[in-house]
Amino acid sequence: MGLTGGIGSGKSAVARRLEGHGALIVDADQISREVVEPGTSGLEEIAAEFGDDVLTEEGRLDRPRLGEIVFSDTAKLAKLNAIVHPRVGARTEELMKGASADAVVVYDVPLLVENDLGGLYDVVVVVDVPEEEQVARVVHNRGMDADQVRARINAQAARDRRRAAADIVVDNSGTPEDLDARVAEVWEYLRTRA
Ligand code: ADP
Repeated sequence: MGLTGGIGSGKSAVARRLEGHGALIVDADQISREVVEPGTSGLEEIAAEFGDDVLTEEGRLDRPRLGEIVFSDTAKLAKLNAIVHPRVGARTEELMKGASADAVVVYDVPLLVENDLGGLYDVVVVVDVPEEEQVARVVHNRGMDADQVRARINAQAARDRRRAAADIVVDNSGTPEDLDARVAEVWEYLRTRA
């Protein structure tokens, strides 16, 4: 299953609950950081391609700097993806090998809709809340300021587009207990499918 939603929609909250029911969670952001940690061939290739400018003084990947370079240059972005994507794929395969044949595997993929990845999953679940709720929750819980959150929302897929890509929409505009109940329903469905 592919799990997605805008910033602050509650993807992590849903993933945690599914994990509690017994799902195997694969976190795309975490994996894409792992494969470019210092000492990996991923980071070595990135430095060879983009220069030491994209490394911090401690020798870690300087993501904002790399982001600036690839943001407006699709050829460079393609080069970066050619380094990162196969490694994410290989690591994901490795994690999958640890799962039993009837496991429910949940891929937490923030940019699933933006990158048009729905076809990779049997079921796409979108966590949905009104934008003002996204802003309020992220401001309250992560201390970002409201304008930063709005800018991020505007850079992500629009709510309608994300919902249109869903097999299942999880409305997370209610309480955490409401979310418990909704996730339990989704879990029952996923188990049946698995
Ligand atoms: P995402 O992973 O999509 O960015 P999170 O799961 O981290 O979103 O949720 C964003 C914030 O909102 C977190 O601090 C989380 O605890 C809080 N949150 C999630 N669901 C609810 C809810 N139903 N009611 C209140 N707060 C919530």
